[in-house]
Amino acid sequence: MSTEKVKCLIIGSGPAGYTAAIYTGRANIAPVLYEGLQPGGQLTITTEVENFPGYPEGISGTQLMEDLRKQAERFGADIRNGIATSADLSKRPYRITIDDEKVIEAETVIISTGATAKYLGLEDEQKYAGMGVSACATCDGFFYRKKTVAVVGGGDTACEEAVYLAGLAKQVYLIVRKPFLRASKIMQARVMNHPNIKVLFEHNAVGLYGENGVEGVHLVKRQGECNEERYDLPIDGFFLAIGHKPNSDIFKDYLDTDEVGYIITEAGTPRTKVPGVFAAGDVADPHYRQAITAAGSGCKAAIEAERYLSANDLL
Ligand SMILES: Cc1cc2nc3c(=O)[nH]c(=O)nc-3n(C[C@H](O)[C@H](O)[C@H](O)COP(=O)(O)OP(=O)(O)OC[C@H]3O[C@@H](n4cnc5c(N)ncnc54)[C@H](O)[C@@H]3O)c2cc1C
Repeated sequence: MSTEKVKCLIIGSGPAGYTAAIYTGRANIAPVLYEGLQPGGQLTITTEVENFPGYPEGISGTQLMEDLRKQAERFGADIRNGIATSADLSKRPYRITIDDEKVIEAETVIISTGATAKYLGLEDEQKYAGMGVSACATCDGFFYRKKTVAVVGGGDTACEEAVYLAGLAKQVYLIVRKPFLRASKIMQARVMNHPNIKVLFEHNAVGLYGENGVEGVHLVKRQGECNEERYDLPIDGFFLAIGHKPNSDIFKDYLDTDEVGYIITEAGTPRTKVPGVFAAGDVADPHYRQAITAAGSGCKAAIEAERYLSANDLL
């Protein structure tokens, strides 16, 4: 297997990775970045991004990510196709294997591999992606002002998303598989007492319909042990809030993660428990998961990497 030595390896090409590449590039560290399966990250599957500062008219997700990529290349970032398939963070230089065929020996590593939203697995979720299906209320809620939406899930995140959407939409249905909510008592109370939210317990969404976007959801309501009722509910937007899967598996033997898999960093910093290894963006952020917060933490990780290299005479 071939081996290459680098000062800073960035894994992932979302807002966190590209921002880290811009900063490390400008610090003359010659970063190498591997893009993974989704070059440009999650924003490439959305249409309009209206909340990234600097774009008063909004910008398409793909354009924003292309611009960030170009900005990183302008400062010398070496951006490559490839997936990090395994990692050895036991000692420096850290050894990251790419596509099972090449080893990068890196003095510093910035992990910015994101967190993938979970979907129910319905074909219609793909069919209506960006046309009424969303996994992010903060991102897309604004498009549903005074409309009717459904949120799927019964935990704290689902309740938070439902309450957030209820401030914008005229009606929110919370579709809950179980006969109860798993959320904290306080979130349950907020949902149950909200005049715009109706909780549909023991319901499953089994499909979506609509001509040019989501116009409704096919529901199955369980009734007792063996009976069920099937009906259609008109909605304009369908929000998934059933969790995310942080892309941290290959690092788990070396880094602390929470029970879901989010990488745990020192509070307020991207420092992991391994010196010189930093985690930025959604992979380390169960709370905010926004492009701007990911970019911000990518910036922090780059500054940390530069300081680490400098402090250890590795520049
Ligand atoms: C449909 C949708 C719409 C959204 N809309 C908005 C919005 O309007 N505004 C907003 O602020 N946020 C929005 N978000 C959230 C936003 O996209 C994320 O918060 C942000 O992209 C996170 O950035 P990140 O850099 O942490 O990771 P991501 O963007 O998730 O990128 C992760 C990167 O890591 C790579 N990767 C993963 N594993 C590996 C590996 N093993 N090796 C190499 N690379 C790997 C992937 O290929 C990808 O490039 C939206 C999300 C979705 C899904």
